Amino acid sequence: MKLFNFLTRKKEEFKPLKDKKAGMYACGPTVYNFAHIGNLRTYIFEDVLRRTLELAGYKVKQIMNITDIDDKIIREAAKNKKTAADFVKPFKSAFFEDLKLLNIKPAQKYPLAADHIPEMIGLISRLLKTGLAYKSQGSVYFDISKFKSYGKLNRLKHRKKSGIARHRIDVDEYTKLNVEDFALWKAGRPGEPSWSAPFGKGRPGWHIECSAMSMKYLGRTFDIHTGAVDLLFPHHENEIAQSEGATKKAFAKFFIEGEHLLINGQKMSKSLGNVYTLRDFEKRKLNPLAFRYFVLTAHYRSKLNFTWEGLKAAGRALERIKERVFFLRQTAPIKDNLKFRKKSAERLNDDLDMPGFFAVFWNNFDRLSLNDILRADQILGMNLKALISIKIPPLVKKLAETREKWRKEKKWGKADATRNRIKKLGWLIEDLPSGPIIKPLK
Ligand code: AMP
Ligand code: ZN
Repeated sequence: MKLFNFLTRKKEEFKPLKDKKAGMYACGPTVYNFAHIGNLRTYIFEDVLRRTLELAGYKVKQIMNITDIDDKIIREAAKNKKTAADFVKPFKSAFFEDLKLLNIKPAQKYPLAADHIPEMIGLISRLLKTGLAYKSQGSVYFDISKFKSYGKLNRLKHRKKSGIARHRIDVDEYTKLNVEDFALWKAGRPGEPSWSAPFGKGRPGWHIECSAMSMKYLGRTFDIHTGAVDLLFPHHENEIAQSEGATKKAFAKFFIEGEHLLINGQKMSKSLGNVYTLRDFEKRKLNPLAFRYFVLTAHYRSKLNFTWEGLKAAGRALERIKERVFFLRQTAPIKDNLKFRKKSAERLNDDLDMPGFFAVFWNNFDRLSLNDILRADQILGMNLKALISIKIPPLVKKLAETREKWRKEKKWGKADATRNRIKKLGWLIEDLPSGPIIKPLK
């Protein structure tokens, strides 16, 4: 399987560190608000990566952190006169609801930053000892000038370091020696949550939490680190510096980053205020899985512009697949399409080429067996298996047969009346060119 690795800027054959096991770390949400559908695009991409590895026979261990200590959280909690822990609670549960609605497989663990302060303190102490970090007015900073390979992920050596850094760097009110240095530990302030550490009371910077939690659960060197492209700099660059600086070992072997979801050509983001959440879909009675389908139609490394028309078209495509599943479960089995399986797997294994996967899927659509579709759904994640277990009540089946009989005898009035009776029972008869199928009314 080939995956595009941002460390080398090339598609590389994925070779796991340990037999058929893959360790994946994903930067998770900062729970100060509901996740917007841009964030969700990234989690869907990570889910497809995980499912592709699993379909290829890897046993995947996926860890996703939850940022529950952060400047924005502290600010918003104070505004709402709540403790940070109370403030984040509803957003944390909404995040898990969203994952479920999108059929995103749960990670093996969702560690919370607040539960891993000792691990972060340990790393910072190591960095201070090795001279890669320094103290300044109660805070601790990482000295990027001392870490020789700083910038390797973003190829900063090829650009002018400070030029690109300056506008994206953590601009904070703390005192540091160089503007590019970043905070590992922020000096405590009255009214803000803080923890005791050998280097003073305070709270961790954002980057250090990912280093601490990824290495705790996946080991010092692990297979894949994921996120969206906005995290490449400075977040992932800083994670590498802190982790490799402390362990002197390679951090993640692959950095795989998804492109953004746009709206009207602009990045969807909380700060621009151009966001939608799954709650907006609920109001419009739109199926969240249609959004999942919409996201999957684009390659994860391409920008994707969100439109309501696009979402609706995705919903129609999904309905067509569901109809086909209902049809196939009611007819004589079709032979498995091995050519489809081979070709679709080839597309997936070529850096998750989902547009290619869909092209193969739709080109073969009428020649796919029920098993082929369910196999494809191991990646698509449209919950199609659940359709198999929906039982058609015997009365509905019997009425459908009666209606077919009336139709064959060209007694259209009686056929329509029977169809209406079926509808009242919550089922719909649809006449496809290949014959009638029964499906539940939504
Ligand atoms: P946050 O909750 O802001 O920390 O972001 C959670 C995840 O969503 C991170 O991996 C971000 O890089 C990602 N993200 C933020 N905005 C977008 C967007 N418009 N499209 C795709 N991913 C995004
Ligand atoms: Zn992170």
